[in-house]
Amino acid sequence: MILTHKNRLKGKRSKRKLRRNAWAVNQVWNFCVQTQRKIQRNWKDGLSPKWPSFYDLKDLAAGTSKELGLHAQTVQDVCKQFVKSRDLHKKCPGFRSSNGSKRSLGWVPFQEQSRQITSGSVTYLGNEHRFFGAKQRPLPETTKGGCFVEDARGRWWACFHVEVDRLPQAPSRAVGIDFGLKILATLSTGQKVEAPRHYRKLEEKLAIAQRANNKDLVRTLNERIRNKRNDYMHKWTTWITRNFRLIFVGDVSSSKLAKTKMAKSVYDAGWYASKQALCYKASRHGGFCDEVSELFTTQICSECGAKPSSRPRGIADLGIRDWVCSECGAIHDRDVNAARNHLNFGLSALSKSQLRVLASSHQPPVEGSRVAYGR
Ligand SMILES: [Zn+2]
Repeated sequence: MILTHKNRLKGKRSKRKLRRNAWAVNQVWNFCVQTQRKIQRNWKDGLSPKWPSFYDLKDLAAGTSKELGLHAQTVQDVCKQFVKSRDLHKKCPGFRSSNGSKRSLGWVPFQEQSRQITSGSVTYLGNEHRFFGAKQRPLPETTKGGCFVEDARGRWWACFHVEVDRLPQAPSRAVGIDFGLKILATLSTGQKVEAPRHYRKLEEKLAIAQRANNKDLVRTLNERIRNKRNDYMHKWTTWITRNFRLIFVGDVSSSKLAKTKMAKSVYDAGWYASKQALCYKASRHGGFCDEVSELFTTQICSECGAKPSSRPRGIADLGIRDWVCSECGAIHDRDVNAARNHLNFGLSALSKSQLRVLASSHQPPVEGSRVAYGR
């Protein structure tokens, strides 16, 4: 399977060169946008409705690489990404601006053939870009193509797609997970992952920086928050995927909750990123992660399957943490009960082939990747 290695680049010279490359990439992209829009305009006038394919765009853009100072492969990559993005959203993507406040962050894709790598640098079109951390985290030999990307702080990164080996298979156990705010994740085994609340700790500093309009500090603080949150998320998701082969999570949608006043906590918790991490890590460990419907999982008794009259109901009963089932007498922790229901629902919805994954000791063919392309 494919993972992405991200290495931060050194030096101002690299930055200058890559900015120039990124400008050229934007020219190719905008050419694609223009071509697409022209065809759509004609179509509205009643002419041929055919959208340009990757091959059409590639042929139209062929020969521009020398003038723009790009590798021919990169020009093709940009066309490919344009078509991918257009087909995914079923509409024409916008222009990429190289200057001004709406400037798109730099992006320069490359293929295996259009770059040379050493242990601490990557050479693209004769320019050597050295990166940090070459000693601590050397690039694997199976490195393929990738891209250079710029972040909001104007720093450049080299991303490499790397073919990785599978990891030892997790023991054949299944777990249900209930996501929350104060308790980030509750497992059906009763264990709990506490939310670290990094955001809240740095929030005061951030507010002061924002009031002072100190943009550099705001960016730095935001990044520190993000790094801490990611680090924590990776640690607990790795632990889960090492210990459980089948993982079931609720289909909780953070975008819906984010509109309420719990918004800050929701973004802080990062449910979506956690789910993504669980999925790709589980497939690396020869298991898988699936979503189950969250409807009524806090109300049904996980012991007897009934909806007893003593159950917590709706928003009004959100404060109730523990309750007793009036049907079978089981004592429930609200979150653990929900996680157990996720597990029960997930297991009952399993297909035969998925059950074989749980039982098997060999490595099943599962596809998965962490980062696909660009940013
Ligand atoms: Zn019960």
